[in-house]
Amino acid sequence: MGSALESAWQYLTDNFSEFQLASFGSFILHESVFFLSGVPYLLMETWGLTKYKIQPKMNTPAAQEKCILKLLLYHVCVNLPLMVVSYPAFKYMGFTSKLPLPSWKMITVQILTYFVLEDFIFYWGHRILHTKWLYKHIHSVHHEYATPFGLTSEYAHPAEILFLGFATICGPAITGPHLLTLWLWMSVRVLETVEAHCGYDFPWSLSRLLPIYGGADFHDYHHRLLYTKSGNYASTFTYMDWLFGTDKGYKKLKALKNGSQNCDEIADDKLH
Ligand SMILES: [Zn+2]
Ligand SMILES: [Zn+2]
Repeated sequence: MGSALESAWQYLTDNFSEFQLASFGSFILHESVFFLSGVPYLLMETWGLTKYKIQPKMNTPAAQEKCILKLLLYHVCVNLPLMVVSYPAFKYMGFTSKLPLPSWKMITVQILTYFVLEDFIFYWGHRILHTKWLYKHIHSVHHEYATPFGLTSEYAHPAEILFLGFATICGPAITGPHLLTLWLWMSVRVLETVEAHCGYDFPWSLSRLLPIYGGADFHDYHHRLLYTKSGNYASTFTYMDWLFGTDKGYKKLKALKNGSQNCDEIADDKLH
């Protein structure tokens, strides 16, 4: 690990307790990564940038404002207390903030494991949330936004925040990682879910380079369709929906789109 990072880390641990860093430090980091990554997509929608937008529909300023206000309320009243009360469990499992910092190899292996575990739990939890009663009373809140934008990723009923938040903290809670690994995991997970809800499919989107990664087009489909027909339940990867056959509608639509695109290209070639 670089000595500059180690010096910065030393400064943090000299000036704040481990509890303060794990709870309030995590909260500040989460808010920063979430809003800094989500607000640009909101501005793109507000400024009418539609070239790579998946759905032509725009959210009204009132709908955007409602999302932000509720998020702030839930983050302070649900996420922050969750971070405070989960500290003893993390500590019990060997969580530490002390130097030396873990190796990049260790960090990478742990974070990849967390992604696979989170995706598995999220997939089944999300499928259960799409049953009639749970959808009506809990998950329909997240689906209020049929045209998602980055910040809607965390817009959900408090019960869902707790339920699916469990999927996010399950990996770290089992392995008791270093605080640096926890912060990096939290940051990439937030970036991933904000991207999945951003409403834009760019030529440089990760899903185009890495077919196993779901991304915005994959999850946008889930928000567009009626809750009984949506499919695409996984959070990060595409293989769970492929394995359990819940991506059939999405694949059919993709094939139709590609087919009509090819037809348009052939027609264009004939005209030129
Ligand atoms: Zn859903
Ligand atoms: Zn969603």
